[in-house]
Parts: sequence; structure tokens; C-alpha cells
Amino acid sequence: MVRLVGSIDKGVLYVVATPIGNLGDISARSIAVLQQVDLIAAEDTRHTKPLLHHMGIATPLFAMHEHNEQAQLDGLIERLGAGQSIALVSDAGTPLISDPGFLLVRECHRSGIRVSPVPGACAAVAALSVSGLPPDRFRFEGFPPRTASARQQFFRGLLAEDATLLFYESSHRIVASLADMSMVFGGDRRAVLVRELTKIHETILSAQLSELSAIVERDSNQSKGEIVVLVAGARKDCDSVSAEAERVLDILRETLPLKQAVSLAARISGEKKNRLYQLALKNERQ
Ligand code: SAM
Repeated sequence: MVRLVGSIDKGVLYVVATPIGNLGDISARSIAVLQQVDLIAAEDTRHTKPLLHHMGIATPLFAMHEHNEQAQLDGLIERLGAGQSIALVSDAGTPLISDPGFLLVRECHRSGIRVSPVPGACAAVAALSVSGLPPDRFRFEGFPPRTASARQQFFRGLLAEDATLLFYESSHRIVASLADMSMVFGGDRRAVLVRELTKIHETILSAQLSELSAIVERDSNQSKGEIVVLVAGARKDCDSVSAEAERVLDILRETLPLKQAVSLAARISGEKKNRLYQLALKNERQ
């Protein structure tokens, strides 16, 4: 039987996702859990209070900032051990994803306390789902370092990664960060800037990194609000296919089925069939 909302269990830490903009994204189950737990441990109570007020939830709040997470652990574990149930929430989206909560969840595991998710919005996953970049393999890297030299080194470490790359970035650093991405990954890498998801100014800009960087530098509106940047993964072995072989393949692919186009392109260009096949598949996924 499908359990739509139901009652909560005692002595459980519920990790509850909250909306990343549009309050309509709160789920019926999150509301039920937030209403029924004994305590809500929040990243910043000033942020969570208005949400709870909007939902008519009066559960006591407890402030759990990242810098005091360790100090608060014992008290929370003790309460859970005594049978109280606690909901962990962050300012927006899924707790622990570039947000506090990891120490508490790990301590629950160590102490034999059940942890249960109440899933919902996560900016990274929402951005990936609308980016138009291959979603089958992705690498979430959170916020890049703040200083230019550390950031460039960080991007260089990801140069060969062939999975789609995901970054969170602040509006203050997005111009500099995009310029560094363009310099390190190359201006011709495809990238997508996803801004203000689920809010009035929701924007999805897809372009090559050099162009995206120029757009955001030119138009200050494009650096406002909350931002996720996605960068296409590095191309693999098929990159070594000559431009001429790729051109032949592209022309043949316009009218022929994949296998036939690859076979003919290999005969015309002298390129290995396997490499052309990989290239054709990759191009079709992008
Ligand atoms: N835990 C959150 C989650 O599940 O997405 C992320 C918290 S992190 C501190 C905040 C960052 O997430 C923002 O700086 C931005 O990069 C991204 N973000 C949050 N809300 C967003 C939105 N509505 N649109 C685009 N990016 C968003």
C-alpha cells in the first residue's frame, strides 16, 4: 500500500528538504513531518521561521549553524536516543548538499539512530534536469574556491573529467569564475548557467564558455540571484578524430543511419570505425 503522508516514528532524525524558491514545492509529507517532530534543527532559524509560519507549523526550533554543529551534537543525539524525533532542515533545498548536517547524520549512524530522508528540491539536481547536458554521469563540486589562483588550480584538477560538471557559485564571484572556467576548460566547452530556479527571474543560458562568460560580464542582470553552473565533460578518445573525418561523418549522418554513416565515413577518411562510432554517439548525446 502506498503511504502518502502518515505519522512519524519516534527516535528518528528526518532530513527534510525545503523549497529553493517557490514555496509551492514543499511536499505534503515535509509539512506532516515538520508538524509532528519534537524539534526542528535549522541551519538558521531566522530563515526557517517565515517558512514554518507560512505553513502554520509551531514546532520548536533549534539553531544549528555549521560552526557550532559539532558542539550541538551530543545534545541532539541524547534527545534522539531518548525517543524524541528531530527534523533537520537547511535554509533552502536539501540539507548536507553544500549545507550543514553531515556531522549529525554521521553521528546518528555511529550511535545506531535511524536517519530517514524527506526528499524534495535540490538546486544541483533541478539544474541538471533542465541543462540539456548529458545527465547520465555528473560530478557535483559545490562552490569553487574564492581566490583566483586557488580556483584556477581547482578547475585544472577537473580538466580531464568527462562527466558533466556542476558548480554552485555566488553572484559576487560568477563573472570571475566563468572567466577562469573559460580559460582553463577552453572557451569552446559548452556550459549552462542556471539562475533563480523556480523564482520569477528563472533563467537558463546555454552557450560555449567564452560566450557565456561575455554575456554575464556584459549584462549585470545575469549575475544576480542564486546560480548553478554546469560545464560539459571533457571529450574522450574520439577527440583525436580529425576535423575532416568529423565533417564527413556529420554530412553522412544527415541522411544515413548511424552504422552506415560511420562505416562510410571510415572508408572515406581512413579513420578508425570505432573512434567515429564513439564520436557519433557523443555528438548525439550533446
Ligand atoms: N542545499 C541546497 C540545495 O539542495 O540545493 C544548496 C545550498 S547552497 C548553500 C546555496 C547555493 O545553491 C546557491 O548559492 C546557488 O548556487 C544554489 N541555489 C540555491 N537555490 C537556487 C535556485 N533557486 N536557483 C539556482 N541555484 C540555486
